[in-house]
Amino acid sequence: MTKILRMSQVYAPTLKEDPADAEIASHRLLLRAGMIRKTASGVYTFLPLGQKVLAKVESIVREEMDATGAQEMLMPALQPGELWHESGRWNDYGPELMRFRDRHDHEFCLGPTHEELITALVRNELRSYKELPLSLYQIQTKFRDEIRPRFGLLRGREFIMKDAYSFHANQESLQQTYDDMSAAYGRICERLGLDYRPVQADSGQIGGSVTCEFMALAEAGEAELVHCTCGYAANTEAGSCLARPTEYDVPDMQKVATPGVHTIDELAEFLDIPASSTVKALAGKNGKGDLVVLFLPGDHELNEIKADRAADGFTLLTDAEMEAYGLPKGSMGPVGLPKEAHVIAARSLQAVQKWVVGANEDGYHYVGARLGRDFEVDEWADLCIVQPGDSCPECGLPLEGARGIEVSQVFQLGDKYSRAMGATFADEDGAEVPFLMGCYGVGITRSLAAIVEQHNDEHGIAWPFSVAPAHVCVIPLTVGDDVVQPAAEKLAADIASLGLEVAIDDRGERAGVKFADADLIGWPLQIVVGKRGLAEGKVEAKLRRTGEKKDVALAAITELMAYGKRSGRITTSGAGYFDGLFDR
Ligand code: ATP
Ligand code: MG
Repeated sequence: MTKILRMSQVYAPTLKEDPADAEIASHRLLLRAGMIRKTASGVYTFLPLGQKVLAKVESIVREEMDATGAQEMLMPALQPGELWHESGRWNDYGPELMRFRDRHDHEFCLGPTHEELITALVRNELRSYKELPLSLYQIQTKFRDEIRPRFGLLRGREFIMKDAYSFHANQESLQQTYDDMSAAYGRICERLGLDYRPVQADSGQIGGSVTCEFMALAEAGEAELVHCTCGYAANTEAGSCLARPTEYDVPDMQKVATPGVHTIDELAEFLDIPASSTVKALAGKNGKGDLVVLFLPGDHELNEIKADRAADGFTLLTDAEMEAYGLPKGSMGPVGLPKEAHVIAARSLQAVQKWVVGANEDGYHYVGARLGRDFEVDEWADLCIVQPGDSCPECGLPLEGARGIEVSQVFQLGDKYSRAMGATFADEDGAEVPFLMGCYGVGITRSLAAIVEQHNDEHGIAWPFSVAPAHVCVIPLTVGDDVVQPAAEKLAADIASLGLEVAIDDRGERAGVKFADADLIGWPLQIVVGKRGLAEGKVEAKLRRTGEKKDVALAAITELMAYGKRSGRITTSGAGYFDGLFDR
């Protein structure tokens, strides 16, 4: 039988007040609920209740990893610098890498990730294509000297990650494992109770690497994304932008005096039209130093990665260079550009016949400059940072904006590390070739914080059933008497015998304190046992998630819960167990 958690014994110092430096819900509530404490900037201790949740998150991740066939192992956090020199990352990783020397003056670092270590580990012992594919993983503490550790567990300098690495003889095999891992990551998010979106992260990069980030939707997230009901989701930096410019219909090209107008906002205000009806211009040089002029819908920003790709390198002109070309800052346009200018425009402008755009003369703009008659575009390209309201590239519906927390990421590394570090195997023809590798990371502690970001209210945390420190908390209103406490103790034991984890708040605190703490800590179900109720054979059940309360016959509780369990409707919210109590 599971041990009952006695709150009189549990070290869970709860706080009534919000800690001063905790800006977001997860940080604030994990501190207040007595689950974590700060040790140093970006470094946290897990107290017993926090540790219970952590263990549950870990075991869900472990189960899903094991189900993919990956094998658990454990590598050291302490890594010899020499391996990082081999991969080239001793220099490339930057100051986030925590480095030091041992007493023999050898370079070491505390691992922020383990590609080097695992590649070195297998390079002399994983020898044949017959042993491939192979996936190994660990759940382990990582160190990154983040420039701005913040938001509690979301961005720490010491944090727990599950990292997996896979080795393959060919691309099909890598793709297969990548797909399996992606599916496992989706299941992990679901089991953790996270509302998430898998986001194609890096499609914009030249020679794009294949990668996907799993984003838990939350206002506290640092990532900006767009998503659609059809399932499409993208980081705003990587997503393809199909803007929806609004055509400003005028009879013909007119040159308009726009004194003092230098920005899109000023232009829109001056003409009293939406910014999306204007066209903005950006002049730069490509990789060869030739003049390139880009045009975008006025209400969109340039995506530099995309510009770089479209123009073959793109850097904005300096003021002096603009002047040398005779280009007026703030009123550039496609009509009358220098002959050598290569003109690239955002694809969504292709549908706009008449442009509201600069006249290449300070203080003047054109209204209704006609594409194909008054000017030409040399090339159409994806240039903008996608934003909410743009059309979904998959289905055309307007995209919604959201913020997200990157809880995990899957990545096809190819032969980047195996080639640099000489990790090869013998293929079917006996030739020595570098492995293809994948790596897959889940932020365990970050996921825990993301769960709290999505499951809280003004009273505290509302843990999903799957990760709660215990499923049910029995709250006797009085202790030390011979009616209420014995009844509560028996009830707790009976519920525990169903296989549920039970806490009992047997502290000699006032009822109000116990209720507040129970809401703060976030047990999915609370059962309050009081003298008056008992006289009628009743106790009060409260579902934390909804706040719903119900008087239930004490004699029927375990039977009602067992019914829920038998019905097989157990979800992350634990609804199956608790349904019967609430007449569902
Ligand atoms: P970020 O862009 O947020 O800095 P990352 O892309 O550098 O993260 P990865 O190298 O992909 O992180 O690490 C895998 C996972 O580890 C991330 O998806 C995230 O959940 C977690 N993680 C990374 N950095 C931190 C951190 N400083 N604190 C807590 N968790 C982290
Ligand atoms: Mg990442």
